[in-house]
Amino acid sequence: KPQSWEARAEEFSLYGFTDMPSVHERGTVVVTHGEGPYIFDTNGKRYLDANSGLWNMVAGFDHAGMAEAAKAQYDRLPGYHAFFGRMSDQTVMLSEKLVEVSPYDRGRVFYTNSGSEANDTMVKILWFLHGSEGNPQKRKILTRWNAYHGVTAVSASMTGKPYNEVFGLPLPGFIHLTCPHYWRFGKDGETEEEFVARLAQELDDTIQREGADTIAGFFAEPVMGAGGVIPPAKGYFQAVIPVLKKHGIPVISDEVICGFGRTGNTWGCQTYGFTPDAIISSKNLTAGYFPMGAIILGPELADRVEAAVEKIEEFPHGFTASGHPVGCAIALKAIDVVMNEGLAENVKRLAPRFEAGMKRLAENPNIGEYRGVGFMWALEAVKDKATKEPFPASLSVSERIANSCTDHGLICRPLGQSIVLCPPFIMTEAQMDEMFEKLEEALKKVFAEVA
Ligand code: PLP
Repeated sequence: KPQSWEARAEEFSLYGFTDMPSVHERGTVVVTHGEGPYIFDTNGKRYLDANSGLWNMVAGFDHAGMAEAAKAQYDRLPGYHAFFGRMSDQTVMLSEKLVEVSPYDRGRVFYTNSGSEANDTMVKILWFLHGSEGNPQKRKILTRWNAYHGVTAVSASMTGKPYNEVFGLPLPGFIHLTCPHYWRFGKDGETEEEFVARLAQELDDTIQREGADTIAGFFAEPVMGAGGVIPPAKGYFQAVIPVLKKHGIPVISDEVICGFGRTGNTWGCQTYGFTPDAIISSKNLTAGYFPMGAIILGPELADRVEAAVEKIEEFPHGFTASGHPVGCAIALKAIDVVMNEGLAENVKRLAPRFEAGMKRLAENPNIGEYRGVGFMWALEAVKDKATKEPFPASLSVSERIANSCTDHGLICRPLGQSIVLCPPFIMTEAQMDEMFEKLEEALKKVFAEVA
């Protein structure tokens, strides 16, 4: 049997979303435990995880109250389902809480095990709804290039990434509109306002071409996360939502990353001034302490779906662990921790400091753009700042920057040509300084090598 943790990981694991040549060369970081925003590997090395795991560990890695809430619920009722007219008391309380903290005065909640399944389920809810209302042809889904909505066959089809091609995806009927990233996709001489007007026109043209009566819904992350932290161009949602409303197309806000304070408000849609017809939540919902997703239907969709259920007598969908009592107890605690223990407040308080740090790093001649909001930011590496010409992909610049950071005990994420930072909400000023210092060193080192 091979001896090292690294070798054991490589021998027995099928890695997801991992650059395998890099693993063969650098080995696997095998993580044993965490403290605050730090994780530790099997060699005892400490890393500041400026990615909050996968955007989700917002309360850090050792919040005692979270573990206690989980333990208490495991002792009371360690598992139950939400089928056949039964569900746990925790499930009832969480649904109540989610509607209370949502932008809606009333609504209905459905649970999944992940963000992917929540998006997948939302598509099925729309298909179920339109079908029951006599519009079974209303099935197409609109999303954007660079969107990330997950990995199930349906949510991957909504995800606008070229890597889906290896799976023969997207499925038919999933339409990707232009990514609202003005810095990268604005044309020469085009103002941000003109860019947004062009995207709204593209949306209208697409709906007219496809036929509004064939489109089930529009899904969008308020800030695109895994696309490389892309806040919408100014006025984007104000321009596209009226077009969708005009054609009677439901708007779904995928708040899997943006929800529960990441952008500085409870919901990303609040930060960008729109009210969707439904909200998708996961990740921060349980502060990463339990795998769980939720769909919150706003009043209009809730009523229509309820009418559909009454007509068909059943919504024939659900997971064994939908509304898992331990997951719900953890989510209730996570919401309390984020909203009432100063975490959301910390994001608001430190966001200007975060932005100032990014702005300073972006003075580097090989950083073309810094962008973000709240506690989610990115720097985009460029070969030429004036022309925005990227480095050749073969140089793997962002991966090298992230590797150099890892060597020095900082975890940040390369996404395309960008480096992404989305730390836990508990991050202190000193930890933020540590993050910037380590990243600055890595930028200097790698740009000196490739310039
Ligand atoms: N939606 C968004 C915006 C995400 O960022 C993610 C995951 O990163 C998902 C959906 C999918 O969630 P999961 O990985 O829990 O399936």
